[in-house]
Amino acid sequence: MTTQGAGPNPLRFLADEIEALKRQNLYRPMRVLSSAQGAEVMVDGAQLISLSSNNYLGLATHPRLEEAAIAATREFGAGSGAVRTIAGNMTLHEQLESELAAFKRTEAVLTFQSGFAANTGTIPVVAGEKDLIVSDALNHASIIDGMRMSKAPRVVFPHKDTAALRELLRTARAKGRPETGEPYRLILVVTDGVFSMDGDIAPLPEIVAAAEEFGAAVMVDDAHASGVLGRNGRGTVDHFSLHGRVHIQVGTMSKAMGVLGGYVAGGQALRDMLIQRARPFLFSTSHPPAVAAACLAAIHVLLEEPELIDRLWANTIYFKGELRRLGFDTGASETPITPVMMGDSAMAQRFSGRLFEEGVFAQAVVYPTVALDKARIRTIVTAEHSTEQLDRCLAAFGAVGRELGLVSA
Ligand SMILES: *Cc1c(COP(=O)(O)O)cnc(C)c1O
Repeated sequence: MTTQGAGPNPLRFLADEIEALKRQNLYRPMRVLSSAQGAEVMVDGAQLISLSSNNYLGLATHPRLEEAAIAATREFGAGSGAVRTIAGNMTLHEQLESELAAFKRTEAVLTFQSGFAANTGTIPVVAGEKDLIVSDALNHASIIDGMRMSKAPRVVFPHKDTAALRELLRTARAKGRPETGEPYRLILVVTDGVFSMDGDIAPLPEIVAAAEEFGAAVMVDDAHASGVLGRNGRGTVDHFSLHGRVHIQVGTMSKAMGVLGGYVAGGQALRDMLIQRARPFLFSTSHPPAVAAACLAAIHVLLEEPELIDRLWANTIYFKGELRRLGFDTGASETPITPVMMGDSAMAQRFSGRLFEEGVFAQAVVYPTVALDKARIRTIVTAEHSTEQLDRCLAAFGAVGRELGLVSA
């Protein structure tokens, strides 16, 4: 039954490390959903109101997306059978990209299996050893990994500090590459559009102005802005009216669009080069037809049912306002991502556990996703929540907050 050989188990250290994480309250238990994603879900056998998904608009169960997925499966099968560059490039993939490009008002779009793959695939193609990447301190893990995979040197500027960014760009342009003094071929400024753990928005107009002053390119990762900010959810570039001034826009179809996948929107040469060189694109199979078709349907819903986005924002403003009225610290949030700050990870885990008992599914986010002393409950309301459901969540937050001494009565 066991494949264990003789002698000590060489992976024994993993079990020891797990024990250490548990002692530090840094171990993440994984809950199991036995229902579809939605405002209410079955989690570990209990019916709970969910504040934990990225399903902002409820599109994960939108009938138009479900029907598109089923129809595409019937016509094109369950899988695509190959990577795009060999035999896995279907009309659905191409149509999705041309509709996304029109939606984003860019020349071209290339899709990836995920937003994560879009970042790790794109950054090493665009930036190499003759270049410099300048990155916000709170950028997403997939940007950080993309930078690590790139041969480009990188510098980090303090979160949203555009004065520091400007100074870095000025110095980089004045001094050039440290070894040779030659000018950098490319300076690439990278930022999340909406920061995924704090819900604040990048100061994109100031970033673009600084980049233009010093001849740098701008890349924005709009994973949490896709379907949330801008007209019809076009993202931060549209939100700030910066069309044509941001060179690389990354988006995800895994969050507000309700399905799965990432994309890179920009110029035709960018798309063409990513097809030649981006490793997740070249070496990993393309989306199943159902995924591409459901993503296409999601674009149509964004265009034709903008009231979903209005409802998302109305719920966001209500929920955030009431949390603050109860005395909670919701940090710097300006979007539906609303962190409720807890301090240490033990408090965050306890609070989340008590909310679970009160019928609310709101997960703790702890180190290393956020700093050790910045543990939080991360909430996201969706367009699907009724006011009555939000009120039940707020009552639970208030009761548990008073019980654990986080807010006063
Ligand atoms: C979630 C997220 C991603 C990854 O997107 P997936 O499609 O889930 O892989 C990338 N960047 C940011 C900023 C994100 O929040």
